[in-house]
Amino acid sequence: MPTPEQARARFETISPELAPYATRTMPRRRDTEHPINQAYLRDRHRDGSLKHAREVGVEQSDAVFFEQMERIQRRGGISHEGNGELSYTSQVRAEFPEIQSFLERPDQSSSRDSNSNPQSVVKLLMDTGATRLEIYSDRTESDDMRDKRVAQIVEAVSRVERAGFTMPSPMHFYLPKYTRSIKLPSLRTENAWSSFAEFYAPNRIMLSPELLRTVPPANAPRSIAVNINDPSAAIVHEIGHCLHFTQSPKSYSDLFHTRFRQQYEHIAGAISAYGARNPHEFVAETFTAITYNAAIPRGQPDLYRALGGPVPARQTPAPTVGRTLAHTSDRSFPDQRSDRAAMARMPPTGDSSRYSSGSSRSYAQPDPSSWDRRRADVERGSRGHGHRGRR
Ligand SMILES: [Zn+2]
Repeated sequence: MPTPEQARARFETISPELAPYATRTMPRRRDTEHPINQAYLRDRHRDGSLKHAREVGVEQSDAVFFEQMERIQRRGGISHEGNGELSYTSQVRAEFPEIQSFLERPDQSSSRDSNSNPQSVVKLLMDTGATRLEIYSDRTESDDMRDKRVAQIVEAVSRVERAGFTMPSPMHFYLPKYTRSIKLPSLRTENAWSSFAEFYAPNRIMLSPELLRTVPPANAPRSIAVNINDPSAAIVHEIGHCLHFTQSPKSYSDLFHTRFRQQYEHIAGAISAYGARNPHEFVAETFTAITYNAAIPRGQPDLYRALGGPVPARQTPAPTVGRTLAHTSDRSFPDQRSDRAAMARMPPTGDSSRYSSGSSRSYAQPDPSSWDRRRADVERGSRGHGHRGRR
């Protein structure tokens, strides 16, 4: 049994490759249930790296994923109290997109709607380029809401592929219908979840319907997704966490509870305020910038590489004919700012005629001749806003 001092020293040890950049401090209140906290107390490899890094990363993610799922399931929903009329103005719609789900709830006689039993979700299967997407969606969510959410995922995944990165396949996306509790008509709100989007190793990403907001919350941290007002960038950010884990599981799993050393916090902050928060967020933010073809500030590429930031499998992405629902708008940062009007009239890129009915829907490969038409649809715009992450 180690003494408390020995335990602290072990917990605060990080791999020598990462130690020049980051430090870990034992939290005052440490959740001893979490696998990562136990892993940091165990012996390391001779070279100082974490043992069983991949397994530890997945165990930790499993624990967090089920906690979040359970909380969202229990707390998410909308209820109508009293007799006041809800006026669903465009301003309300911009901040509370999921009220559409309430208005279209399956039981119109009920004053409350919540997430359906997760055992009976709709599973959508899609292929974009080399990645199979498995999307788990609430069976009572309307096709319209679902299509808009799926379109954001497809835009993000396609963008990452076009930047030359190889993603795990399949990727799993979870789309709870509600991730906060809203009382109508007062619009009093309580969060059931502290994120808009979150990655869980090895290949799961959960997304809030709040990604359909066209006005970012005032308290959203200044991430790239918020800066460019693009919800797909919040999904790209999560894919960045995913590829960090996939390509460098030792670094990824050894960076929980860490902070940058001061000089590197300064470098990291040049990408976005959110990127300076910790090494995980810096890697995901830099990945997002790379994927959106933005200039990377000086000093950052080295830091990104040192932390195991994901690199593309190929430098020049080959055009992929037959990629499902791909977006090809390679616009750079400034062009994407606040095109909110375009977002508001965005046609869902998912063509619901290509869904087959039943609980396991799938997209057919598109006819290449329809490619240009689809691209033209897509380029009319799809901007929204971004992300409030917790890791
Ligand atoms: Zn993040």
